[in-house]
Amino acid sequence: MAGMIHPDRRAQLAGNLGRVRARIDEALAATGSASRPTLIVVTKFFPASDVGLLASLGVQDVGENRDQEAAAKAAEASDPRLRWHFIGQLQTNKARSVVAYAHSVHSVDRVSLVNALEKAVAKEQERRAETGEPARTPLECYVQVNLADNPTGSRGGAVPSEVPELATRIDDAGQLRLAGVMAVAPLGADPREAFARLAAISADVVARHPEARAISAGMSGDLEHAIVAGATHLRVGSDVLGARPPLG
Ligand SMILES: *Cc1c(COP(=O)(O)O)cnc(C)c1O
Repeated sequence: MAGMIHPDRRAQLAGNLGRVRARIDEALAATGSASRPTLIVVTKFFPASDVGLLASLGVQDVGENRDQEAAAKAAEASDPRLRWHFIGQLQTNKARSVVAYAHSVHSVDRVSLVNALEKAVAKEQERRAETGEPARTPLECYVQVNLADNPTGSRGGAVPSEVPELATRIDDAGQLRLAGVMAVAPLGADPREAFARLAAISADVVARHPEARAISAGMSGDLEHAIVAGATHLRVGSDVLGARPPLG
């Protein structure tokens, strides 16, 4: 359980991380792939102290899906080496807060959100200039794709036909960098088939935006399938941190 403290939490996290890294190595060896995906450890529901321990174990990329929780943790575990990836449904009125700490947003699913993020980064740059802080890097944006055939399987995202317009809009936004695409395998679907479709959508995006090669896919239960499909970024939570409390 999330609230329970292991007597040696650091050793527990180190063991879990080692097992996840071994799975990644094995999947890479099986596919003959030479390029290693970035492991984003999803720390939602777990305390900032865990983020600190993960950083001490060499983790540089952490993922969060709620702004309030992420903003508080990013302030508490303020390690300049950490990159915060925002991976959850995002309301436009939270854009200003998110761009203050986030390196990337993996869940860009509509044009209104692109507009809000663009404005928010511009404001954040102004604020930093006024306070003498260094400018932030352009916000890395992923178009989240809904791979479900029906609404019950949906895990969020834009439908595939909306992806080209969204990608172009991000690419045109001065403060944003189009990183690529992201998806969560639909509920009840075969992740192999879903991730193969994501790879095809990614190829379309790359044909028009050659730099936007990133594919954010794969979680604790399906990271091997995501690696087969060419994932460049994995988002792994429970197999590193432990089981989360069930959502109410
Ligand atoms: C929680 C979450 C993850 C991590 O899921 P696990 O099954 O715990 O590995 C990955 N991606 C998104 C979008 C999430 O919300």
